[in-house]
Amino acid sequence: MKALVYKGARSVAVEEVPDARVQEPTDAVVRLTTSNICGSDLHMYEGRTSVEEGKVLGHENMGIVEEVGPGVTFVKVGDRVSVPFNIACGSCRNCTTGWSSFCTRTNPTEGMDGAAYGYANMGPYDGGQAELLRVPHADFNLLQLPKGTEHENDFTMLSDIFPTGWHGVVLSGMQPGDRVAVFGGGPVGLMAAHSAFLQGASEVYVVDKAPDRLRLAESIGAVGVDFSAGDPVEQILERTGGHGVDRGVEAVGFQAHDAYGEEHPELTLDNLVNVVRTTGGIGVVGVYVPQDPGLDEPAKADRVGWQYGTFFTKGQSMGTGQAPVKRYNRQLRDLIITGRATPSFIVSHEVPLEQAPDAYEKFDERVEGWTKVLLKPAS
Ligand code: NAD
Ligand code: ZN
Repeated sequence: MKALVYKGARSVAVEEVPDARVQEPTDAVVRLTTSNICGSDLHMYEGRTSVEEGKVLGHENMGIVEEVGPGVTFVKVGDRVSVPFNIACGSCRNCTTGWSSFCTRTNPTEGMDGAAYGYANMGPYDGGQAELLRVPHADFNLLQLPKGTEHENDFTMLSDIFPTGWHGVVLSGMQPGDRVAVFGGGPVGLMAAHSAFLQGASEVYVVDKAPDRLRLAESIGAVGVDFSAGDPVEQILERTGGHGVDRGVEAVGFQAHDAYGEEHPELTLDNLVNVVRTTGGIGVVGVYVPQDPGLDEPAKADRVGWQYGTFFTKGQSMGTGQAPVKRYNRQLRDLIITGRATPSFIVSHEVPLEQAPDAYEKFDERVEGWTKVLLKPAS
């Protein structure tokens, strides 16, 4: 089959690799109709991880079930499915309490709970930027979708970023009527803003500096805050009569940079602590990572100095981590079916798998207008 493989820093290629196949009785194989490029893929693409050469990338997957193992009962060949990026067993301590993103069984990497497709240190699983994908524990992991092709570009957001944005808002403790600030207007931040409105926010600010992303935020009724035009905390305080916001979402991660492009992994955490009111809450879904056991140099994103004293003094709370997609994807699917949610508003490009290397380069360089790229392996 054809697949997009990692070759080294800023180098990926579409190559012929062995077909994905059923390896365990509880596996299914899915033929991909859509697989998205994610901001999380860039951690590997930019060479900041020890992901091995030859790994097939891609964790935002959907398609049609091609084959099932003898232990798969409920999922059937021909089903149209969304594949959560978390690979979970469904029966461990974390899975049974709704934390499938921290499954204790599926990731053999020492000290790591939680597995994913096509990802560094998240288990030996290949990704879905390919024609076929092996899905472990298929009955537990796969979400069935209505047959046909309707809502394809909305449903494709169910594997990761729509539940992730939703989770960021949940982690912030948002209540209906709250004002929310989302730092990062990338796909995840825009999904957080969309989710905040669906959960009843009275006002949503989206902080970024990319004009196209700020425009998209404004297209759904959020207030775009350009951090290259001045301190975003001051801009939001000014617009809220000095009160700030009730809740904040971090959707940037450790590659946060200042208006001049210098990397400051602590910057958005500091801004959130300063713009959220006393006793307010912060949800961090932007990725910070521990020391990668495969790399010699210390991970800049592991030890981050941020304004913990201000956070403590303001009595704020914070939730963090990878999103447990299964906790939300069924409900979000139904919001799409009834027309209440339309996460496809962020889609900028749909390209055949063969053009993935060029699409990676454009998305990585943040070329204006390249907000969310969908790869279409079947076209
Ligand atoms: P992205 O890189 O496209 O978006 C990040 C945005 O942040 C960019 O538009 C950038 O201009 C902006 N930004 C940079 N510095 C900023 C600052 N100081 N203030 C405000 N905005 C700033 O990536 P994405 O796909 O939207 O993903 C965002 C983060 O979410 C990444 O770290 C990704 O790994 C992570 N993620 C987490 C989960 C999870 O389950 N927790 C799932 C998916 C993605
Ligand atoms: Zn993703």
